[in-house]
Amino acid sequence: MAACNQHTLSISEEGASSFNRDSLMQHIKMLASDSFEGRKPFSAGETKTVAYMENAFKQLGLDPGNGNSYVQDVPMVEITPTPDAVMKVQSPNGSFDLKRTDDFVVSTQITDSVVSLNNDELVFAGYGVVAPEYNWNDYAGIDVKGKVVLVMVNDPGFGVDTTIFKGKTMTYYGRWTYKYEEAARQGAKAVLIIHNTQAASYPFGVVQNSWGSSNLFLDKRDNKQYHCALQGWVSADAAKKLLAAAGKDTSLLLSANKQGFKAVALNEKLSLNVKVKAVYNTSHNVIAKITGTKRPGECVIYTAHWDHLGVGKPDAKGDSIYNGALDNASGSAALIEMARAFTSLKEKPERTIIFLSVTGEEQGLLGSEYYATHPVYPLNKTVADINMDVVDAYEKKKDIVITGAGQNELEDYVAEVAKQQGRYLAPEAHPEAGHYFRSDHFCFARVGVPALDCKGGIDVADKGKEYGKKEEDDYVQNHYHQPSDEYDSSWTFDGGIQDLQLLFLVGKKLANESTFPQWKAGSEFKAIRDNMMK
Ligand SMILES: [Zn+2]
Repeated sequence: MAACNQHTLSISEEGASSFNRDSLMQHIKMLASDSFEGRKPFSAGETKTVAYMENAFKQLGLDPGNGNSYVQDVPMVEITPTPDAVMKVQSPNGSFDLKRTDDFVVSTQITDSVVSLNNDELVFAGYGVVAPEYNWNDYAGIDVKGKVVLVMVNDPGFGVDTTIFKGKTMTYYGRWTYKYEEAARQGAKAVLIIHNTQAASYPFGVVQNSWGSSNLFLDKRDNKQYHCALQGWVSADAAKKLLAAAGKDTSLLLSANKQGFKAVALNEKLSLNVKVKAVYNTSHNVIAKITGTKRPGECVIYTAHWDHLGVGKPDAKGDSIYNGALDNASGSAALIEMARAFTSLKEKPERTIIFLSVTGEEQGLLGSEYYATHPVYPLNKTVADINMDVVDAYEKKKDIVITGAGQNELEDYVAEVAKQQGRYLAPEAHPEAGHYFRSDHFCFARVGVPALDCKGGIDVADKGKEYGKKEEDDYVQNHYHQPSDEYDSSWTFDGGIQDLQLLFLVGKKLANESTFPQWKAGSEFKAIRDNMMK
């Protein structure tokens, strides 16, 4: 049987046989227990989680990863914006109001007590993209300093022209985080993204929930980088109102899909006051290492976020603890077990292996962003990041799916091990959703370090794809980011163990090489890496 073969082949390499269900389950049972309160940053659950991870690494005999400490402080700020109930819009055709939550949501990274728009001009800047490699500049020939820019989500051409950018596959230019960053680089006072369910890959309700109350950010008081005063979203209907009041319609949106599109001043002025409450606090990454025998100054990093959503809105059963058993107690357990696999090797790895358990992923990849911008090990000596976020608790899968395929050579390493396991690489089901930009590996990618995120797909050994699709849909619809993502004694982790063996063998190979994997031609992260490696 193929399934049997896969098992024997995959564990034949030294170290890979160390992964087992019982150890994974034991860690998950503890980390996802109610006493850990859903592992939210700054809670008692954080203290317990950080202590658990630190102890686990110590017990395995790992070295502290940050000088003589196993902890990296991550300074954060919790910002609660309270916008006026309406945003006032003045247009050549009269004035009108947009309603908070129904029509727009805004957040801010500015910690002044009040942040305001005062009759600030609105400019439609297409997709808000400046991408030299695609010869694209939505801000060409217009000065948006001090103005409000209105932009669309996803890449130019989305749903209209698949011959530009990467077609259906979202590039980083398509992510809302990029839109905010580029608007700030252009000196805009505020940026509003037009919501579209297909282009965003989630409904407006998700935007309303995420940005309707308080949010955590990294504390950047030391950093003089400019941020827009306000950043947010408008609903598709609110965008139509704004266009109509300027004498335009949605054909203007369509025109932004053509090369040479020029941003358009809408002759509208926006006013809004936002009261801001800011509270500073420190969260923690846990970091441990196995020091390399031959090239200790070079490292391979494994990451998994320890945090989840804490205690929140109760579900239908009255459960309000978001235990995050799979997301991401499973990845945290995997990080410990990955360390165990490396410590079990007779010949220790030649390069240093870092095990980085990061905070604040659910709040915007904060712990990994902090590490990537305050690296303990130089980035040009960091070979790769391998991320684990939600480990497969179910059956073995014949396929393996790389998030953001085509980005870098790490996928060639995956392909080689997958072949040994008798598995095949399958494309992402939703490349337009930009999953490559949505977990911790991305923070390494954006500073140029080749980063990998992959896991088994839906082709369940002996049961097929339809079965696997149902299993995946069940998790997304009934458990993902809900209180019911709880420890389940029926989990086999057959699939997860196979995936972890693969990620172990990829890391082991990287650790014993002297070369550095590269970004592939056309990757938006290649230039950053090439520059630092000169
Ligand atoms: Zn996660």
